[in-house]
Amino acid sequence: MRRSVDEHLDVVLGRVRALPPFEQSLMEALGLVLCEDVVSGVNLPGFDNSAMDGYAVQMADLAGASQEEPITLPVVGEIAAGRSEPIVVTAGTCVRIMTGAPMPRGADSVVPVEWTDGGAAHVRIAQQPALGASVRRFGEDLKAGDKVLEADTVLGPRQVAVLAAVGRARVRVRPRPRVVVVSTGAELREPGTRLGDGQIYDSNSYTLAAAARQAGAVVYRVGIVDDDPKKIMDTLSDQLVRADLVITSGGVSKGVYDVVKEVLTKLGTIDFPEVAMQPGKPQGFGVMGDDEVPIFTLPGNPVSAYVSFEVFVRPALRKLMGQMPYRRTPVQGISLDGFNSPAGRRQFVRAAATSGDEGWMASTVGGHGSHLLGGLSRANALIVVPEDVTAVRAGERVELWLLDEETG
Ligand code: AMP
Ligand code: MG
Repeated sequence: MRRSVDEHLDVVLGRVRALPPFEQSLMEALGLVLCEDVVSGVNLPGFDNSAMDGYAVQMADLAGASQEEPITLPVVGEIAAGRSEPIVVTAGTCVRIMTGAPMPRGADSVVPVEWTDGGAAHVRIAQQPALGASVRRFGEDLKAGDKVLEADTVLGPRQVAVLAAVGRARVRVRPRPRVVVVSTGAELREPGTRLGDGQIYDSNSYTLAAAARQAGAVVYRVGIVDDDPKKIMDTLSDQLVRADLVITSGGVSKGVYDVVKEVLTKLGTIDFPEVAMQPGKPQGFGVMGDDEVPIFTLPGNPVSAYVSFEVFVRPALRKLMGQMPYRRTPVQGISLDGFNSPAGRRQFVRAAATSGDEGWMASTVGGHGSHLLGGLSRANALIVVPEDVTAVRAGERVELWLLDEETG
């Protein structure tokens, strides 16, 4: 079976369903997608209060006040934030007041302490305030019944701020997807251990776990499973209970020990198409178990696995979390290097991109080989070369994926 990148991504997004929303506390909800319109139950401010440290006055008492001829008023009390004092400002008096303290009855304006001598029993005031100056009015920010946030908003610090300010402790959001990551390969060993002949460290499970976590998932990195059909089936079956999505790497090409493909093909719910892309041609996607948990079986070559994550897994995670758009939005840039590209396949070229006066400029890094992780670590972008383009010349316009952008 052969598919284009777009066809395969359509299959993926057609299968993956957004996770059902549930209530989370505010800090748990950070980064997640809101699934309700939030209406304020309160007014903000909830009462008239002072915007300054100063004195609550009747402004009419201060007509003509100046540096040369300040007006002195008796200070009949003091109100701090959080206090509600039964003090009344009558004509010819004032009350010392702090920022956020409720306005006393009778006062119409606040004189900032900077215009005064700061007196405690009497205060000399050198300027008349405008009527209502430095008073924050009841409900001027938000009224009870106002919609403060719309469904589908991604909650960041500023949205969490307004939720807390209107007194919400919990909100309905789509949860973080639980992602299980498994590496397959008899040659793989855990970093931090000794390598024997022919062995390599498992980097894919780390790459994919890190990428999934950064994309917002809760990740269970299961680690390495041998190229053994029974072990692979047992591991996946065990893991399904805690997975909203499974990602494996390795064992899906045409080798004798590519057992992931061999065992999962038998289930009949997972396809193993050749996708017209470079890197990342051998792909597998489908569902497993009674709950039809989506599973990606990515190729083992480290760069292929990572690029496959960006092309197929990230949009699926965004859909699970309800983050729109699901597909990454490319930016336009200039390729500083020329290179050839295979006909009929979409190519994703590792690049280092910088943004300057003339927009994004991208230099290719490392080679094309799918095993070259050194170059990948210096890349922050992929140049996306369309299927029908067979060469990119230095200085030509290209489409770029910026890999460090949070969304995209
Ligand atoms: P496979 O898809 O299993 O045939 O693997 C293709 C290539 O990727 C082989 O050179 C593997 O050794 C390598 N590879 C597979 N899995 C991993 C992994 N988890 N970490 C690093 N390299 C891997
Ligand atoms: Mg293998």
